[in-house]
Amino acid sequence: MSNCAIVGINWGDEGKGRMVDLLTQSYDVVVRYQGGGNAGHTVVNEKGKFALHLLPSGIFRDGVVNVLGNGVALDCENLWIEIEDIRSKGVSITPENLKISDRASLLLPWHRDLDALEEARLKDKKYGSTKQGIAPFYSDKYQKKTIMAGELLYPERMQAHLADILEWKNLILNRVYGAEPYTMDQIMAWLNDFGEKIKPFICDTGAFLRNAQSEGKSILFEAQLGSLRDLDYGIYPMTTSSNAIAAYAPVGSGLPSAPMDQVIGVVKAYSSCVGEGPFTCEWFGEEAEKLREAGGEYGAKTGRPRRVGPIDIVATRYGVQCQGATDIALTKLDVLSYLDEIPICAHYTLDGKQTEDFPFPAVLGDAQPVWETMPGWKCDISGIRKWEDLPVAARNYVEYVEQQIGCHITYVSVGPERDSIILR
Ligand code: GDP
Repeated sequence: MSNCAIVGINWGDEGKGRMVDLLTQSYDVVVRYQGGGNAGHTVVNEKGKFALHLLPSGIFRDGVVNVLGNGVALDCENLWIEIEDIRSKGVSITPENLKISDRASLLLPWHRDLDALEEARLKDKKYGSTKQGIAPFYSDKYQKKTIMAGELLYPERMQAHLADILEWKNLILNRVYGAEPYTMDQIMAWLNDFGEKIKPFICDTGAFLRNAQSEGKSILFEAQLGSLRDLDYGIYPMTTSSNAIAAYAPVGSGLPSAPMDQVIGVVKAYSSCVGEGPFTCEWFGEEAEKLREAGGEYGAKTGRPRRVGPIDIVATRYGVQCQGATDIALTKLDVLSYLDEIPICAHYTLDGKQTEDFPFPAVLGDAQPVWETMPGWKCDISGIRKWEDLPVAARNYVEYVEQQIGCHITYVSVGPERDSIILR
């Protein structure tokens, strides 16, 4: 029996899906514990190439039970589209291998509307939202103004609860934003369509997980996004609206007292960032374009070009600390093979002084990168599977990062495929 969280150390898109897909071979249950369908976990395995948005990445493994925990933003419409899409590629998804927490709150159509309306109101000060309704959803959850998935099982009570919420929500839609109000018929039609479709998957996943735990099953907890987008510890307000850190895994999964035996932090061998906000190590122009091309850095959900730059030691060290990582998986080392020299954002300067500490969000935009370089290896490493077979320059780079961030790099990934991995 063991509990392991797989989390992002940086801004997201570190390759968490790829690591969960690999490691699920040793786990019985995989739980997504926070975030919504705005994720894009890319998984490449013998069944094909997939971009998972809300479904846990254990969905491809026979015998693994996947859970959407109470901490997720449950958008029935997009989840159903995703289930149909993955099924059409030959993957079986049934109430046996997918369980949705009855305590997960529902992301409703007006959350997406409000996300778009607020981004439009903000104009050039927008947050760069994926407009999937995540921020309005979590605001409503904490205001106790949405419904839980389990309420779908009690239609009459749900309808009465929804009528109260609708009245309040229409005031905001109409009087704050001047948008069309919703009718009860509209929202019930949506729930009768998509809510009904996911109903067979809804159950008391807390009871299921407690049972799994008492039977000695191994549980993997999967995060969306990374430390720097965590609501409390990230670059607020350019964060997501939930807690992506491992400490939240027990709360958002349905096993509030579960200790984590292992926290695997996923770090990319360089940096990428989707959306707005300070990004100290950012590259621009031709060198950014080359790195973006080499790494295929375009959003899995939106197709947006990601902002890119060299690895950021200051941000990564902070991310490791926030997560309490016990191990690191360093991904996409192969992408750096084209470079003569490997650039590193080794420190920051702030107010004319060098700093190793990640600055407070309000002044992060003033921080300047201090660059260092290490020799490149200039050869294809994607076929290498043993640490000692990596070129010395590549090993030196991994060891340097490890020493700087203060956590053992246990996995080095050299390609997107399941087996393109070096275990140290
Ligand atoms: P996630 O949201 O953290 O799962 O990350 P994404 O799926 O958004 O981004 C990771 C991307 O990198 C995906 O396209 C993966 O297939 C790909 N990938 C993951 N690990 C490696 C690797 O070691 N090398 C290469 N070349 N690609 C990788």
